[in-house]
Amino acid sequence: MTFQPRTPVALISIHGDPDITIGQEEAGGQNVYVRQVGEALAALGWPVDMFTRRSHPDQPLIVQHRPNCRTIRLIAGPEEFIPRDQGFPYLLEFVEKFQKYQAETGIQYELIHTNYWLSGWVGLELKKHQLLRQVHTYHSLGIVKYQAVSDIPKIAHTRLNVDKLCLETAERIVATSPQEQQFLRELVSEIGNINIIPCGTNIDQLGQVSKADAREKLGFDPQGKLVFYIGRFDPRKGIETLIRAIANSKFRYDPQLKLIIGGGSRPGCSDGLERHRLEKIVDELGLNDITQFTGRILDEELPLYYRAADVCVVPSHYEPFGLVAIESMASYTPVVASNVGGLKFTVIPEVTGLLCPPKDEMAFTEAIDRILSNPNWSKQLGEAGRKEVETQFSWQGVALKLSDLYTQILSEPAQLLRIKHKF
Ligand code: UDP
Repeated sequence: MTFQPRTPVALISIHGDPDITIGQEEAGGQNVYVRQVGEALAALGWPVDMFTRRSHPDQPLIVQHRPNCRTIRLIAGPEEFIPRDQGFPYLLEFVEKFQKYQAETGIQYELIHTNYWLSGWVGLELKKHQLLRQVHTYHSLGIVKYQAVSDIPKIAHTRLNVDKLCLETAERIVATSPQEQQFLRELVSEIGNINIIPCGTNIDQLGQVSKADAREKLGFDPQGKLVFYIGRFDPRKGIETLIRAIANSKFRYDPQLKLIIGGGSRPGCSDGLERHRLEKIVDELGLNDITQFTGRILDEELPLYYRAADVCVVPSHYEPFGLVAIESMASYTPVVASNVGGLKFTVIPEVTGLLCPPKDEMAFTEAIDRILSNPNWSKQLGEAGRKEVETQFSWQGVALKLSDLYTQILSEPAQLLRIKHKF
């Protein structure tokens, strides 16, 4: 296949570095999304530059991942990790550095795809000064998030304004599920253009090993009942619900039951504190013997964990998309998830897994026990999950849809954003 040369595209992801090790603090779905979308678009012939903020002086300023696909780190604010809720003061500097980069290299981007509201703000600011089309993916919606958490950060008001302005002025919003589109319309604004393009997963890397082999490689009991969680340690991920559900399971005293909780954290940082809180609950409930906190799971081992598990649990209070659910399905492992956000779109109840009301420990216990009690049915759920991912959620398919969207938007004239926003 030969490709037409295409206009360079800037994917902007200020706090979600596409080149970072996933499982480090605050690194999760957004980092994976930007990197995978970037690489898949590059494979279709788009020159893709992924802009992020340098968060450590040792990080290279430019990383070439493959022909046509680079991570470019701009220095904006201190070269250290900054939690996303504290990133706003450095955005103006990021805009200036982006403009400087264009001036120095002679590359003038005509299309930017911004990720999360911090980058969304940068996009709005850039559009005041240069002719640009903006595509925006939220990854998380302020209004929905703040309904689900008890401590609302000081920056909330600004974020809600930026979320709304992005929806109303970006050339296109990419919602990753119909549920997200509905939230945007009902809770943010009636104005603005939305396309639904889901997240994807790497179907060639997941589900390529048998369950027996995966267990052998990881040293798990071939007959074990393995319940798996993977993801960030954040209270909104609902890991406490899972732990309490396991404490009520009818297999609670079965020596074959094992709860594996995977994901990285750093002591003293927000995710380290959450992990510490959860370890105390595990201890109080007397689950130490059956629970294993693995820490960050390496990319090479993650497919083995997914495949070795009998059930993967995604107990989030709120989940805009939830990559873990489709990664599990791609690995032939049924999912028990909260009945929220993108999980309602990806997990088909009774077909690829089960959905439960968020925070409802008893419902999670019942769902997990149903799957653990019935291996034949569980196998059917796993097969159906794999099929669903192959047809709906590959990164290649996602990139094709984005590529069509970019082509269409680039064929339309760009306009300077004439709006004075003060946040
Ligand atoms: N991941 C992780 N922890 C690890 C290794 C990988 O969370 O130790 C990956 C996981 O496989 C998934 C992503 O990080 O691809 C988490 O994405 P999701 O959408 O489920 O949650 P988010 O981080 O966006 O809240």
